[in-house]
Amino acid sequence: MNARAHRIKVREVVSETAEAVSLVFDIPEDLGRRFAYSPGQFLTIQVPSDRTGSVARCYSLSSSPHCGDRPAVTIKRTPGGYASNWLCDNIAAGSIVTVLEPAGNFVPRNWNRDLLLCAAGSGITPVMSILKSALLLGRSKITLLYANRDRSSVIFAEQLRQLTQRYPRRLTVLHWLESERGLPTARGLAGLAKPYRGYEVYLCGPSGFTMVTRQALAQLRISERVIRQEEYRSLTENPFERPAPAPAPAATIAVTSAIASAAAPGADTAAVRVDIDGQTHQLAWPRGRKLLDVLLEHGIDAPYVCRESACGTCVCRVERGRTRMLMNEALIDEELAMGLTLACQTLPESDDLHITFDQ
Ligand SMILES: Cc1cc2nc3c(=O)[nH]c(=O)nc-3n(C[C@H](O)[C@H](O)[C@H](O)COP(=O)(O)OP(=O)(O)OC[C@H]3O[C@@H](n4cnc5c(N)ncnc54)[C@H](O)[C@@H]3O)c2cc1C
Repeated sequence: MNARAHRIKVREVVSETAEAVSLVFDIPEDLGRRFAYSPGQFLTIQVPSDRTGSVARCYSLSSSPHCGDRPAVTIKRTPGGYASNWLCDNIAAGSIVTVLEPAGNFVPRNWNRDLLLCAAGSGITPVMSILKSALLLGRSKITLLYANRDRSSVIFAEQLRQLTQRYPRRLTVLHWLESERGLPTARGLAGLAKPYRGYEVYLCGPSGFTMVTRQALAQLRISERVIRQEEYRSLTENPFERPAPAPAPAATIAVTSAIASAAAPGADTAAVRVDIDGQTHQLAWPRGRKLLDVLLEHGIDAPYVCRESACGTCVCRVERGRTRMLMNEALIDEELAMGLTLACQTLPESDDLHITFDQ
C-alpha cells in the first residue's frame, strides 16, 4: 500500500448539479498536516473495481484552504466513464474512501497578479479554489471565462453570482453556454479574453477545451510563460498499488541530516545525492533510467501520481549537476529556471548531482 494513502471519512455529499457532486471530507486531526493543500491542488481517490481491483482518479479540491472551507472535491459524471459514475452513485455521508495526500502544481504563487481563469465543465474545481483564495488573499482583478453545455450544467453558478455581487470591481464572470453559442471557438474565446491580455492565465478542462483556448491565447499573442494548464485525463497508472517502501538496499546509504560519501560516478552511472523526507540517500543513477524509477527501486518513498509528466506530484529541485527531462507538461519556464524538474521524466546529464524534494 502506498505510504501516502489514507482512509478518510466523507462528511457530506453535496449535489451541485444533476451530474456533479461535491464530497466534503472529515480530515482527522493527526492527518491535518499531511492534508494541508494549496488552491489548485488535487486529491487522488481509489475506486474499487471488480475488474482490476481498483482504479485511481484525480479530483481537484474545489474548496479553498484560506476561506475556512472543509476540504472538498467536486466530481462530474463522465458519460460512459467508470470512476466518476461509481463515486456519484456509491458515496454517501459516512463513507470511507482511500485518498492520496494533496498534490499538483497548478497553484498561483503570487496572489496580487491579475488572473484570467479559463474553465470548462468540471474544470471549474481547481479554478474555484484559486478564485476564492485570490479574492480573499490578494487585491488583484480576476476574470473567469467559463464554458458549459447549458445553464443547468453550470457548477457553482449561485456561488459565483454571489461573489460577483460581493466583489463587483474585482471579479468578472463570462459564461459561454453551448446551448446559446455552440461549442467554444478560438475566435469567440479570443474576443472574450482580449481585454485581459496582461493577466496570468490558469486554464483547466477537457483536452478539446484546453486546445481551443490555447489557440485563442496564441491569437492574442499571450506568452506561453504566463499560461498554466491542468488537463483532465484518467490515470493509466494505479499509484495505490505500489508496494510499501522496502528497506534500503546495501547500495543505498540513508542517513538523517548528514552527508554520506557519494557513490562514485562511472561510464554508465552518475552519482546522486537525494534529500527527501528528512533523509539523505547516496545512489548510483544509471544514465538511461528516470530518477523516480531509481528511487522506487531503492525503496525510497518518492511522491508520484501519473508518471506521465502531467500532474507535477514528483516535482523536485536540481541543486547541483545537469539533468534533462524526456517530457514536461507540468512545469513552466520560470520553474525550470529555478531548477525544478519532474522525477518521473528526469535523466542525469552530469556525473555528480544533488536533488532535493520539498515536502
Ligand atoms: C489533475 C486532475 C484533476 C482532475 N480533477 C477533476 C475534478 O475536479 N472533477 C472531475 O470531475 N474530474 C476531474 N479530473 C478527471 C478525473 O480524474 C477522471 O478522468 C474523470 O472523472 C473520468 O474518469 P472515469 O473513470 O469516470 O471515466 P473514464 O476514465 O473515461 O472511464 C473509462 C475507463 O475506465 C475503465 N473501466 C471501465 N470499467 C471499469 C471497471 N469496472 N474497472 C476498471 N476500469 C474500468 C475503461 O477501461 C476506461 O479506461 C481530473 C483529472 C486530473 C488529471
